[in-house]
Amino acid sequence: MSPTALRAARAVVPARYRPAIAGAVRPLVHRGDRVVCPCCGGHFGSFARHRTRPHAKCPRCGSLERHRLLWLFLSERTDILQAPLSFLHIAPEYSIGGLLRDRPNLDYRSADLESPLADDHVDVMDLPYADGSFDVVMCNHVLEHVDDDRLAMSELARVVAPGGRLIVLSPIDRRLATTIEDPAITDPVDRERVYGQFDHQRRYGADFADRLAETGLDVAVVPFIEELDPERVARNGLTREDEVFGVEDLFLGVQRTAPQHA
Ligand SMILES: [Zn+2]
Repeated sequence: MSPTALRAARAVVPARYRPAIAGAVRPLVHRGDRVVCPCCGGHFGSFARHRTRPHAKCPRCGSLERHRLLWLFLSERTDILQAPLSFLHIAPEYSIGGLLRDRPNLDYRSADLESPLADDHVDVMDLPYADGSFDVVMCNHVLEHVDDDRLAMSELARVVAPGGRLIVLSPIDRRLATTIEDPAITDPVDRERVYGQFDHQRRYGADFADRLAETGLDVAVVPFIEELDPERVARNGLTREDEVFGVEDLFLGVQRTAPQHA
């Protein structure tokens, strides 16, 4: 579809229907069998462009590299797709949100500031749920966008039940020991230059896990991709074509079952 036709289509199609329509058209352009999306099971000649990355997005379900990685992790390394669990999905992604909602074992709820895909429209810095409401909370690529990420992290941790899990993905610049953030940087052009994206409020470094652990959760970094065969990583398109943010670790926080006393 030409850029002009695409703009015209965007103008008349409501946002919530766009992923399904794109998912019907794009597979025709990307026919083939070189890559496989673990989320929707689709086979394609290549993944599709997303922003600056030419082979990032699943032509059918719209999954990005991190969604495919996460889906494999949930499927193969956790009981989350089988056990009866309450699940809160912050900023639900179209690709995996639908899959999670359809799991009969999950009592699934999604939340976002404004996404039409979300059940609840909420501020992640002020969640309207009672303490310990969910067995699993998942929050991907949100914390780098919010004004006060420590407050958001503490809210996420608060709503995880004792023994429950918080799963977080955020872009981490592996070259940095310490996160870069400066509230004075508000211009989108400056944010793009300093943080890597026009709407990011910080560039996380290796201290991200420590910051998450300040919530009181027991935090582990899961370098899941390193456990996978390189051929599979390529076939499922699990790394970003991006030198700085190319490989994503998963961050797993577990709520302690009894309060810790100093
Ligand atoms: Zn897919």
